[in-house]
Amino acid sequence: MSTTNAAQAAREELGAKFAGELVGPEDPGYEQARAVYNAMIDRRPALIARCAGTADVAETISFARRHDLLLAVRGGGHNGGGLGVCDDGVVLDLSLMQAVEVDPGARTVRVGGGCTWNQVDAATHEAGLATPSGIVGTTGVGGLTLGGGIGHLSRKHGLTIDNLIEADVVLADGTQARASAEENPELFWALRGGGGNFGVVSSFSFRAHPVSTVIAGPTLWPLEQTPEVMRFYREFLPAAPRELSGFFATMTVPPADLFPAELHLRKVCGVVWCYTGPEDAAAELFAPVQALGTPLLHGVAPMPFPALQGLFDGLYVPGLQWYWRADFVRELPDAAIEQHTAFAEKLPTLHSTMHLYPIDGAVHDIGAADTPFSYRDCNWAEVIVGIDPDHANAGVIRDWTVDYWDATHPYSAGGAYVNFMMDEGHERVRATYGENYDRLAAAKGTYDPANVFRVNQNIEPSAGA
Ligand SMILES: Cc1cc2nc3c(=O)[nH]c(=O)nc-3n(C[C@H](O)[C@H](O)[C@H](O)COP(=O)(O)OP(=O)(O)OC[C@H]3O[C@@H](n4cnc5c(N)ncnc54)[C@H](O)[C@@H]3O)c2cc1C
Repeated sequence: MSTTNAAQAAREELGAKFAGELVGPEDPGYEQARAVYNAMIDRRPALIARCAGTADVAETISFARRHDLLLAVRGGGHNGGGLGVCDDGVVLDLSLMQAVEVDPGARTVRVGGGCTWNQVDAATHEAGLATPSGIVGTTGVGGLTLGGGIGHLSRKHGLTIDNLIEADVVLADGTQARASAEENPELFWALRGGGGNFGVVSSFSFRAHPVSTVIAGPTLWPLEQTPEVMRFYREFLPAAPRELSGFFATMTVPPADLFPAELHLRKVCGVVWCYTGPEDAAAELFAPVQALGTPLLHGVAPMPFPALQGLFDGLYVPGLQWYWRADFVRELPDAAIEQHTAFAEKLPTLHSTMHLYPIDGAVHDIGAADTPFSYRDCNWAEVIVGIDPDHANAGVIRDWTVDYWDATHPYSAGGAYVNFMMDEGHERVRATYGENYDRLAAAKGTYDPANVFRVNQNIEPSAGA
């Protein structure tokens, strides 16, 4: 079927029963509808089906299966490898499904499968609550949650999946299922880290925690002090109370009002902190940080939690080129720190960066086999990203990222966080799930034996499941 025919066929077959929008290559909104966050990804689907509800989701899955078309599911469209879009197939776009409903008494929030985190943060904040998520508000709830979910609140309240209470799912055969500890527990287990392999989640229900004003912001040091700062950080944070989180970064200071003009475009290392404990304890907690080396900036101050969540949204706008590599890290030996320092000196562009996100504290309270997220004994999720607006620099950012990863991977735990990976092959996916892979493959055999949901970090269904 040609790409034009697919859109035409969808209109004829789905017609009036489809409540959302169908967009084909001939339609005026097509270019915008096919674009994803990472501008390095340039794919042309035959049909984009913007679903208005679960009936549309089931119809779209059925249409793709009937015509043997590849099916990509799009939540927030942020995925680094562009897993929310495909060439020639159908994109099932959830962006119309954005209801957010907070229950302040029960401290829970129900979230539509196409929401972004800034929508959730805004709603929960009104009730003085927050659910652990990522560090950029425009990221989709769907992809981030299904891969794990690492952010500022993880040391205190765990990963996003550790706060998932239930999920409503449209399965590959078009039927609907609720997944929770009580209902379809194996599906519930698989969804908490196994990505989009098992179905389309139309709504998530999360626990939320009393988090309102946080004491947060960056401390920055001259790049030359990277070894000293990293050696301090690797001891300081794991010993700090769980109310404190801080991700380490090497970066170029953006020319933004947030930073003093004399620091603009200077390469630095730093930590972006988030403290949810009592304000009067903060000065003592941060005293050793401020005494370390010669900080260029200690911009830590009380702010509403959503302000922290949106701090980087203006820098990391949609439409930049991104090249990703990642690893899980147990320790930060001096030899690894040497490599981090060397590659920080070679940061190729303004936006390029390396982050170490802490995943100790409450993340370690859950067993390695309790969810598919198997690296529960690691202390950091490392991500190296070459980023630039200009496609002409695609090779430069890719080479820096890959060389950096090659140099630091030997000091890693083996696998990487699925949500920080691009298309890196099946062995890498296996390494990431480790001993949980076979159980995931069996669940895939039960819920999606034909591998309809394969535009993802794919779990191959095990034979005979
Ligand atoms: C700027 C930026 C910052 C980030 N920061 C963090 C961070 O702090 N912490 C963190 O953990 N991750 C972070 N990430 C990574 C992020 O978790 C992944 O990119 C994730 O895949 C994004 O989800 P999405 O829904 O936006 O993506 P999409 O591209 O829409 O989808 C990604 C994958 O999830 C599947 N999917 C999405 N929604 C659903 C659904 N409702 N049902 C079934 N399958 C679905 C898709 O099929 C696809 O395979 C960041 C990414 C970016 C670009």
